[in-house]
Amino acid sequence: MVEATSITTVTESTEGITGAVASLAVNRRLAFCLAGHAIFTLRNSLTGNRFTYRIRARRRQGFSVALLHGQDNESDYMGIGYITQYASGPQFTPHYRANPSQAMRAFAWAWPRLVTNTLPPEIEFYHAGRCGRCHRLLTTPESIASGIGPKCAELGNR
Ligand SMILES: [Zn+2]
Repeated sequence: MVEATSITTVTESTEGITGAVASLAVNRRLAFCLAGHAIFTLRNSLTGNRFTYRIRARRRQGFSVALLHGQDNESDYMGIGYITQYASGPQFTPHYRANPSQAMRAFAWAWPRLVTNTLPPEIEFYHAGRCGRCHRLLTTPESIASGIGPKCAELGNR
């Protein structure tokens, strides 16, 4: 059994998320985000504002960051920037346009705090129940708690 505190059920069918999603522990978020195919939602519990992001490994290096902006939560993603690994850590560079969207600014604000585990507690982090590396459905309690499936967790430890 996973501790009750680590799993939160959110049912908001009108907004594109249905079923159970898991709140990820602070120290597991960065590994999940950079596993290769991570989809997660950041929600501000004070305002109720939330955004869903996807971080995917690029073919050669780094990661692309996209925002869910439509009804289809499998395909309606729009690129908002990229992440590059530096010696100092992974850094986000937004595709700034004349008027960066609220979601783009929110990610630019949240990312360095995610990296350093300093997101304030009102910012909640949920994954959508799929492996952050291969995007398969997570079924074991351990993998739901970590966001990474058992096979991918083994690969990550090599
Ligand atoms: Zn996997």
